[in-house]
Amino acid sequence: MSKKMLKFVTLEKHMPEKREAASRRTDFNEIYGEFETARATEQASRCSQCGIPYCQIHCPVQNNIPDWLMLTANGRLEEAYEVSQSTNNFPEICGRICPQDRLCEGSCVIEKGFESVTIGAVEKYITDTAWEKGWVKPVTPVAELDQSVGVIGAGPGGLAAADELRKKGYQVHVYDRYDRVGGLMIYGIPGFKLEKEVVERRATLLADSGVTFHLDFEIGRDATLEELRKKHDAIVIATGVYKSRDISLPGSGLGGIVPALDYLTASNRKGLGDNVPEFENGTLNADGKNVVVIGGGDTAMDCVRTAVRQGAKSVKCLYRRDRKNMPGSLREVTNAEEEGVEFVWLSAPKAFLGDEKVTGVKAIEMHLGIADSTGRQVPVEIDGSEHDIPCDLAIKALGFDAEDIPTLFGAKELEVSRWGTISIDFATSMTNLDGVFAIGDIVRGASLVVWAIRDGRDAAASIHKYLAGKQAADKVALAS
Ligand SMILES: Cc1cc2nc3c(=O)[nH]c(=O)nc-3n(C[C@H](O)[C@H](O)[C@H](O)COP(=O)(O)OP(=O)(O)OC[C@H]3O[C@@H](n4cnc5c(N)ncnc54)[C@H](O)[C@@H]3O)c2cc1C
Repeated sequence: MSKKMLKFVTLEKHMPEKREAASRRTDFNEIYGEFETARATEQASRCSQCGIPYCQIHCPVQNNIPDWLMLTANGRLEEAYEVSQSTNNFPEICGRICPQDRLCEGSCVIEKGFESVTIGAVEKYITDTAWEKGWVKPVTPVAELDQSVGVIGAGPGGLAAADELRKKGYQVHVYDRYDRVGGLMIYGIPGFKLEKEVVERRATLLADSGVTFHLDFEIGRDATLEELRKKHDAIVIATGVYKSRDISLPGSGLGGIVPALDYLTASNRKGLGDNVPEFENGTLNADGKNVVVIGGGDTAMDCVRTAVRQGAKSVKCLYRRDRKNMPGSLREVTNAEEEGVEFVWLSAPKAFLGDEKVTGVKAIEMHLGIADSTGRQVPVEIDGSEHDIPCDLAIKALGFDAEDIPTLFGAKELEVSRWGTISIDFATSMTNLDGVFAIGDIVRGASLVVWAIRDGRDAAASIHKYLAGKQAADKVALAS
């Protein structure tokens, strides 16, 4: 092993420079700077190159992290990039928005006592450098194949599948109902976590690789699934989950109560230069308002931090459990607190107040009772603890469910789970319809970008086998 490694004993963990909260509050730019070369090299050298790399095991795409850390520590950056991109189609995106504290870094063996290696920031540094130096190139397949694959959804799952299928030479057509490529990476996740240019340059690279995008094209409106199946040799459904979960409370119908994704999409569109009437007329704009966000997941964190940047007068996050038991990343909670968000832990909404427009939320305090069958303590209301929290904008961030895909797609025979997610054979990613595969959130329920990438890669490998088999069978049939 290189003498340059194992430096965790003497070197402390460092993250790239984080911008001051006061400056972060005023724009939608990313909050972390880039590592300087010397810092990235030094931080990579903290890796202990342990015998069983738990970081790799717990990475959904099984990134070969110890190897690219060692290459970085030795200044062999182009090779580090080659290793990193061989398991992940968008490493610079995962480096920015993966919850590393729950995945690779949370599994690092030096975490106990020495703090983990800064894996995500080094991953981002490697690939951002690769882009800068021109090492990231469009795909040039060894041979063009006649067979074509239709991918429904241009989110990370669909894009990873498209990239892998192009590498094998298939003609790839990606259909999306949005007018831009990227799915939740472009319209859900705010720029302060993932700047839009990072997604846009990937979209351009895929187009330069020969992927054909059909935007503003909605399956169900512009074509049925059956029509698409007739056009292509295989189909990938990667449509994500978009039905916002709701709460039915007294006052739910008042103005000024909005779903999180509508709010975030309007903000992202505004940032991308679109004309957004709901933003201009104040419906989906927190400027000058007292804002209450209901929920404790990553979407709620993105909403509170967006509201701060839009110039809200105050921003409160209402969550029925406590800090320790929230589903969102603790790193994001800390960022939000630094930016001035107030967390109202152990509180749940009981009613929305107001005549036509919301003027407040009636909340009740909770305590954590005994654990349910999942092991999580159940929040229980504390009698007589109701209190009013004034607000002019209430944002509901309570999670997402799958839309009714069989009905939307005109394909009643497509099998779904009782949650509406598409059922697949996990060995092949194929649905019950021959040649129709499904991946990402529409299979798993709301999940992570890195899992969608993994699914896209797995499905592409399965489709390759499926189409090769089909071609061989066709040849045999022709010959006999
Ligand atoms: C606010 C928010 C913040 C998040 N933050 C993070 C984070 O920090 N880190 C992380 O790892 N994950 C995060 N996630 C989760 C992550 O974005 C998703 O898990 C991931 O994008 C799922 O990828 P996907 O390809 O399955 O679907 P999506 O990204 O949802 O893409 C689906 C695409 O399908 C298109 N589509 C849908 N229906 C049709 C149709 N009928 N016809 C044509 N096109 C259609 C949609 O327009 C969309 O472009 C966040 C999610 C949200 C909502």
